[in-house]
Amino acid sequence: MRYALLGDIHSNIEALQAVLADAKGQGIDRYVSLGDIIGYNASPRECLEIVRAGNFLVVRGNHDHYCANLKQDLSDFHAGAAAAVLWTREQLAADDLEYLRTLPMVLSIDDFIIVHATLDNPELWNYTFEAADTEAHFASQSTKLCFNGHTHVPLYFDRRAQILCSSYNKLDLHEFRKYLVNVGSVGQPRDGDPRAAYAIYDQEKHNVELRRIAYDYTLTQDKIKQAGLPERLATRLAIGR
Ligand code: ZN
Repeated sequence: MRYALLGDIHSNIEALQAVLADAKGQGIDRYVSLGDIIGYNASPRECLEIVRAGNFLVVRGNHDHYCANLKQDLSDFHAGAAAAVLWTREQLAADDLEYLRTLPMVLSIDDFIIVHATLDNPELWNYTFEAADTEAHFASQSTKLCFNGHTHVPLYFDRRAQILCSSYNKLDLHEFRKYLVNVGSVGQPRDGDPRAAYAIYDQEKHNVELRRIAYDYTLTQDKIKQAGLPERLATRLAIGR
């Protein structure tokens, strides 16, 4: 099986379409979303429609959670993110909100597991930027391989060696090691590279490939401005921050 893993799509339909066009030529058997389908950008309905129609295997991200649970207090969010959550709530149908509300926090798929943040207390939405951030996570990871998102920075952690590899093109999975692989973000990369990120896990070849796909983010920026969302959500797309 070959899995395409898409993290943090964040209502960016242009980036999502570019990623799916690339994935089409890659012999993908199954599509996986690591959460945060919506939030920040201006095409939440279109992105949800693709994910739902494509039967993606999905876990819940913090933006999915906060958009769908209308009574959730947004004080943990930065002003721009909170404004986008409030705007997104208005765009979605009751059926979409119900879909987001009932997404699982953790999902086992085949020989791997997926979560938006970390396996220990996934509802706390912890960030994994450094090896020290992953200790409690790895104590909860029984599978060899786990994929996550949330930081919008593609990197992976190898538990045994405690190595943080901040950029990878192809990761060959060692049989006796445990990995946490962050696939980066489709719709709002934050590693200084504005191209959309996604990963392909090839089960037979035991490897994970990170792919970066250029797309026309000026269209996304125009939609953000037209929607009246904060300007900064548009400008950051050009610099990948
Ligand atoms: Zn996110």
